[in-house]
Amino acid sequence: MMRIKKNTLEFILGVSRKIYPNEFAGLLRGNPDLITEVLVIPASTWGKGFAITRFDMIPIDHSIIGSVHSHPNNFKPSDTDLRYFKRIGFAHLIVKFPYQSIDDIAAYDRYGEKIELEVTN
Ligand SMILES: [Zn+2]
Repeated sequence: MMRIKKNTLEFILGVSRKIYPNEFAGLLRGNPDLITEVLVIPASTWGKGFAITRFDMIPIDHSIIGSVHSHPNNFKPSDTDLRYFKRIGFAHLIVKFPYQSIDDIAAYDRYGEKIELEVTN
């Protein structure tokens, strides 16, 4: 199970709503069972643009525990997502429209298996 801080959750939902219909992508920071912060990667494109171009712009940072990105419709990780999940961290969030609550967020491990996500203060 992963936990996420309430204000971090609100931030993710807010950014996803704001840039819709574009996709939002970022990196998660925290500790092994708690997501505390999101690093937004400016103008990033999930998939090959993000995975290849942007890695060299990310500082070596052991507090990075995974990733987050938004989908316009569903939670299902794409093949690109699954490849990317294996490359960094161990907790990955997918946010889906309408980006309103925890019910619009799914968490996955690095193998694309769904994990439980709980909100905390
Ligand atoms: Zn995706």
